[in-house]
Amino acid sequence: MPSAAAPAAPVVSLQGRVAMVTGAGSGLGRASAKRLAAAGALVGLLDLDADGVAETAAEIEAAGGRCETRAADVSDPESIKPAIESFAEAAGRLDVVYANAGINGVWAPLADLEPDEWDQTLAVNLKGTFLTVKYALPWLKRRGGSVIVCASVNGTRVFSNTGATAYSCSKAGQVAFVKMVALELASYHIRVNAIIPGAIMTPIFDKTVERNIDSVKPHVEYTDGRIPLTGGDPGDPRDVANAVLYLASDLSSHVTGGEIVVDGGESLLQG
Ligand code: NAD
Repeated sequence: MPSAAAPAAPVVSLQGRVAMVTGAGSGLGRASAKRLAAAGALVGLLDLDADGVAETAAEIEAAGGRCETRAADVSDPESIKPAIESFAEAAGRLDVVYANAGINGVWAPLADLEPDEWDQTLAVNLKGTFLTVKYALPWLKRRGGSVIVCASVNGTRVFSNTGATAYSCSKAGQVAFVKMVALELASYHIRVNAIIPGAIMTPIFDKTVERNIDSVKPHVEYTDGRIPLTGGDPGDPRDVANAVLYLASDLSSHVTGGEIVVDGGESLLQG
């Protein structure tokens, strides 16, 4: 029990703040949008999947939170720009941007990976991050804010998921993007940080197209599981949402250009 004199634990509040989450219709985006709304933010839920964001919105509203939905494709400037603008205009401000939308795409040996498959993964994951932040920028510059980018251990700490080359390159690019724009935007008091998740239980793996990767994948067995903290179980989307909440809040007011790894130690074991 803390003594009467012990300082109270800080309460993370985003009351009065406006946040936007791309890919909010599923997985990490949904869990993070719910966390941000529970902390008091009005949250803009953007996704290609209109049904997915409607479900997220229903969950947020059932818990007493506030949100708005927009259907948008992050890889298409004609789609994402008006979605961001209409949400920020309706909300009157924008403080937090979580660029989370992403796909695993096609995992295949180089010889089997088609140019349009490469383009698709890079367009959603890397160009989508650029477009999301670019079109949010006029709003963020008004008061400062926090940009959070969802990268991955793949391409930044783990290079043994052979076949995931396009995905890994997109994720490595996102981390470079974070560091470049963290410096560029610091004078506007816009903080820019990356979250680096390891394996987290979401529907993304059901959507991954794996083609002929057994022929190139190294065969390594981790008899105690490949995630040290859990003995092998993947993380929960709420593990990532908690890191998003920290980076969105004033608790991280002196943190920019950084990376928070949320992987249960997976990338310490699997390089
Ligand atoms: P998910 O498939 O559950 O959710 C991704 C969401 O993004 C979906 O709702 C989908 O409709 C949306 N989306 C896809 N393409 C889009 C587009 N062009 N425009 C707008 N929305 C689009 O996946 P997730 O696991 O929640 O992944 C979220 C992010 O986390 C991704 O960037 C992914 O690379 C990253 N990540 C996930 C894991 C993991 O293990 N789940 C690990 C590391 C990184």
